[in-house]
Amino acid sequence: MTEPSDCLFCKIVAGEVPSTKVLETERAYAFRDIAPHAPTHVLVVPKEHHADVAALVSDPDLLAAVLAAAVEVAEQEGLTGGYRLLANTGPDSGQTVFHAHVHVLGGKVMGALA
Ligand code: AMP
Ligand code: ZN
Repeated sequence: MTEPSDCLFCKIVAGEVPSTKVLETERAYAFRDIAPHAPTHVLVVPKEHHADVAALVSDPDLLAAVLAAAVEVAEQEGLTGGYRLLANTGPDSGQTVFHAHVHVLGGKVMGALA
């Protein structure tokens, strides 16, 4: 997919917007969320632009690379008690940045989803 010139996460992947890097693999990039909702709150994105996870399934290898990177982040962050992977998909979900991403949330006990 063509990268939109105004995509925030494409700019973060390109290093044009600063981020706190947590992990980088061949096809994925992970960085700390600027407004964390948990002691560990990391975003994992494909380096290639896809609007959301529903679009990302068109490339199963890339989807798997993003999920594998999310699990690696959780291990690296020492989230041995468990963690939450969350992918808001589409406006009704509350998605605000339309470049596919998985939130890795952990470091506290979390309640049921609303
Ligand atoms: P979502 O609401 O699922 O689309 O998640 C977007 C996330 O991106 C939110 O949790 C924001 O706090 C986070 N975010 C927005 N801008 C930045 C940024 N410049 N660096 C890191 N995280 C950001
Ligand atoms: Zn993008």
